[in-house]
Amino acid sequence: MKEIILLKQGEMVLKGLNRRGFEEKLLGNAKRRLKKYGAFRVYARQSTGYVEPLDESADFEGAWEAMQKLFGAVGVCRAIACEKDADVMVATAKAYLGDKLRAARSFKVETKRADKSFPMNSIQLSQYVGGELHEAFPHLTADMHHPELTVHLEVRETDAYVHADPEPGAGGLPVGMGGRALSLLSGGIDSPVATWMIAKRGIIVDCIHYYSYPYTSPEAKEKVLDLARILVPYTGKMCVHVVPFTQIQEELRRSCPEELFTILMRRFMMRIACRVAQRNGMEAIVTGESVGQVASQTLEAMVCTDLVTDCPVLRPLVGMDKEEIVRYSRRIGTFETSILPYEDCCTVFTPKHPRTKPKPEEVEAAEAALDVEGMVEKAVAGIERVMLDL
Ligand code: ATP
Ligand code: MG
Repeated sequence: MKEIILLKQGEMVLKGLNRRGFEEKLLGNAKRRLKKYGAFRVYARQSTGYVEPLDESADFEGAWEAMQKLFGAVGVCRAIACEKDADVMVATAKAYLGDKLRAARSFKVETKRADKSFPMNSIQLSQYVGGELHEAFPHLTADMHHPELTVHLEVRETDAYVHADPEPGAGGLPVGMGGRALSLLSGGIDSPVATWMIAKRGIIVDCIHYYSYPYTSPEAKEKVLDLARILVPYTGKMCVHVVPFTQIQEELRRSCPEELFTILMRRFMMRIACRVAQRNGMEAIVTGESVGQVASQTLEAMVCTDLVTDCPVLRPLVGMDKEEIVRYSRRIGTFETSILPYEDCCTVFTPKHPRTKPKPEEVEAAEAALDVEGMVEKAVAGIERVMLDL
């Protein structure tokens, strides 16, 4: 029995040129993700992508897992290829979908017939196979409108395919359709989810991480790279820009009012991110902030950080509750890593009473004595780039 994977394309509202670009990107991304699992043929017919292993050595389970993380596919489905013969299709459906047929109460059979030379038309084949399955699973009732299980038959050029309804895919748009962005990735729960959400809209993301060695440990940095590695099957290959942040933090502690430390640090993060984004052709910055989640994430603080950058700042989690973010984080697979107990650079020198509603004038005054440009350039010059591939 040869198994294949079907990819149901999402965003059906796309039209014209966009539609073709969508399909090309989807198939190209699928091919790149499948490379490490062996030889597969990937093609599309009538808004469905087909992924066929070309030989026995292909890792089908690996491919199946990879395709569930492919943005642009709203549904994924395993199907079995068989001979183009009605009785073989019946036998295949019984064997392959037996558990599903036993569990369902109602069903129907739906046929797509691409090979018009097949001796039965779609309705005849559906009726024939439906009748045979009904006989084999007599508890089932036929329901043409709201069946619990739909048995799909496809008669194509070389083979027929048998499958059930698709399962939910990763959704969104194929990565590469929507420009490029730089995501501020910490070791927390939120920023990996924010990064994932932006990639889900078809945007290519790179990440930037600020670390404060020796105040934060090498393990803390490794944890962030692990989070990025979990994201790569969704985002495709990415670069993580690791910024040495210790000197800036020490300078801020030395020469600025303690209660402004957090906001000043965030402004430096933004300045550095903006510079990296602009030098690498990225159009926006992404953060995992959500209004009111912690004392420093007030609207006033966000306004105050955004003043130092001309890059648009995307905050996909801005209106979400922590529980919703955690749910996504579990679904993506980053949660267990995010909750590992390593310190973040934000927890270094945390002021006792941080100013939650900073005013731009007082923040600018606090920065007046600093060589802001020199500090930013020095940090940017010290960036270590870690390339992560699929
Ligand atoms: P997260 O769970 O993403 O760490 P958080 O709730 O801990 O978020 P903050 O620590 O205030 O919130 O950080 C807000 C955002 O700033 C993060 O979501 C992330 O985008 C960015 N950020 C914070 N610390 C770092 C860091 N060390 N490196 C890169 N980005 C960071
Ligand atoms: Mg954090």
